[in-house]
Amino acid sequence: MAAHQGQEDRHTFYAGKPQPSSDSPGQFSSTDPSTAKPVCTIHTSSPASITAAIQSAQDAFPSWSSTPPLDRARILQRAVSLLRARNDELARIETLDTGKPFSETSAVDIVTGADVLEYFANLIAGGGLNGESIRLRPSAWVYTAKEPLGVCAGIGAWNYPIQIALWKSAPCLAAGNCMVYKPSEFTPLHAQYLAAIYKEAGVPDGVFNVVYGAGDVGAQLTSHPAIAKVSFTGQVSTGEKVAGSAAGGMKYVTMELGGKSPLVVLPDADVNQAADGALLANFYSSGQVCTNGTRVFVPKTMKQEFEQTVLEKIRFVRAGDLFDMNTNFGPLNSKVHYDKVVGMVKQGIEKDKATLLCGGTAQPRGLPGGLKDGYWIEPTVFTDCTDDMTIVKEEIFGPVMSILTYDTVDEVVRRANNTEHGLAAGVFGRDVNECHTVISKLQAGITWINTWGESPAEMAVGGWKQSGVGVENGKRGLEAWVRNKSTLVEMGGEVPTVFSKL
Ligand code: NDP
Repeated sequence: MAAHQGQEDRHTFYAGKPQPSSDSPGQFSSTDPSTAKPVCTIHTSSPASITAAIQSAQDAFPSWSSTPPLDRARILQRAVSLLRARNDELARIETLDTGKPFSETSAVDIVTGADVLEYFANLIAGGGLNGESIRLRPSAWVYTAKEPLGVCAGIGAWNYPIQIALWKSAPCLAAGNCMVYKPSEFTPLHAQYLAAIYKEAGVPDGVFNVVYGAGDVGAQLTSHPAIAKVSFTGQVSTGEKVAGSAAGGMKYVTMELGGKSPLVVLPDADVNQAADGALLANFYSSGQVCTNGTRVFVPKTMKQEFEQTVLEKIRFVRAGDLFDMNTNFGPLNSKVHYDKVVGMVKQGIEKDKATLLCGGTAQPRGLPGGLKDGYWIEPTVFTDCTDDMTIVKEEIFGPVMSILTYDTVDEVVRRANNTEHGLAAGVFGRDVNECHTVISKLQAGITWINTWGESPAEMAVGGWKQSGVGVENGKRGLEAWVRNKSTLVEMGGEVPTVFSKL
């Protein structure tokens, strides 16, 4: 099939290059969500190609894992430079694939991925893979070593494709592992660019490989006996399947899953600041962010002022041509996701009977004609919401904010925690002591005070409860890709003589 918009077809990538094969079980298209037009043809990886990609990683592992950390760090640093030099080119690809405005992808998606790669390269260069030495007694000590795990699987979601690929592959490769990575079938374009950048930087063939396809390809990958670890980002329900399959082989797992995070506006909060936070926490990336603060709790006494401020500010959420730097709001990523989000907005109006403050299921007004077929909906705010509504309980993963009111801080903490999710939480307030106190009571792994969403390389992030297992980034992010070996050394010359003669 011919390539679309200058994008060549994608094939399984292993042993350092794309590997077209005649046994591909099928093909699918990547689609530009702003226009619903196809962008590129992707050939599904066959079982034999998946096995070949894993074999290629196994072949590369002995040499890569024994390459001194400083040398690995130098190679990864070169990849950082290439990512930064090609920021705009890669951001264009991400915009085409995800539907996120170029103003966003060019400022965030590649930048935050490259930062994490730089962080882990620096960490291993600075001794981050060193173990510890423990003196037991004059004649004996224990030393520990951090050993790479082997061949690891990375499975990505579609909302931050290249960032997710980097957040997984950076610590994986830095620790001396090899990776077989499967991007989401909805956003596969970045994977081959990243593989090519790693190669150009000097990452040996077979260290980073890519397979393409839907859930069945992911399932073949994660259940393969040669895979030592699965790092997964996606929905809770898929995560349960993936973790179940990994458990069969006693594989290590990191699970970065969904959320329904509370944003708590305290009674002394600056309303302007809190409304800015709520907009960021609901409409950035058109609400397709796992850590979205979708349950916005405001004191009853502040409700009217807060709603008014949100309505004033929502005028600055601008849909339009994704490559216009004034556009800061894009479409939903795919038709299937559009249908889900529209269904949830209808649920809020018709069944939950929340009050629709603004938005709805229509397209944003003033969209250029060429974008009418895209997967657009307006930024939407519901108010008078209650804890038992479906829109308040279930992850929507779209531009839909729910405003709830409360009377006391104890009450809001209890209600904020009344969810099976525990990914993120945030508090806005002027009394920072009170903010700390409330944060300490919220059940979530990623929390913010008087801000929302920033997730720098130094900050370990991961969910509690159903929202995940383990963390990515920060020093603990490297620990997730190594196993420990402890060695006890005895210099006394004699092995303890338990079995001596009486
Ligand atoms: P999905 O769970 O639908 O898919 C995630 C990935 O898993 C995709 O690559 C998918 O393939 C693949 N997959 C599907 N079934 C299986 C299987 N049985 N075995 C192995 N892999 C499988 O998630 P979405 O792509 O819809 O992503 C959105 C979700 O991700 C939201 O819930 C969001 O909250 C969460 N997320 C969490 C983050 C975090 O850090 N906690 C960050 C970003 C998103 P395919 O799609 O190609 O069919």
